[in-house]
Amino acid sequence: MKLTPSGQPEEAGDVVCDMCGVSTRVGEAGVQFGKLHAAWGEGAGHSGEVYELHLCEGCFFSVVSDIKRTRWASVMLEDEGDEILKNDAFGRVSTDGAE
Ligand SMILES: [Zn+2]
Repeated sequence: MKLTPSGQPEEAGDVVCDMCGVSTRVGEAGVQFGKLHAAWGEGAGHSGEVYELHLCEGCFFSVVSDIKRTRWASVMLEDEGDEILKNDAFGRVSTDGAE
């Protein structure tokens, strides 16, 4: 959730983690957060709805871990299961900040 210094939602200012409620500001580096975004299109159960959640670093990787465990549980009897748990780059698309 993006908040102004007065606590009102707005574009500028701080970004508060939607999971733990703590500021995502990291010292002089400014805000550091991950996004969980969805824009559901025609045919989806939530058609026309757009979601955007902001997560601090700790909560982001907690969510990634939950996704990996859920995925592992669905394939744990197959070879793929262990590879999912050991994959530290699960969901990573870049290491240099480029998307
Ligand atoms: Zn958080």
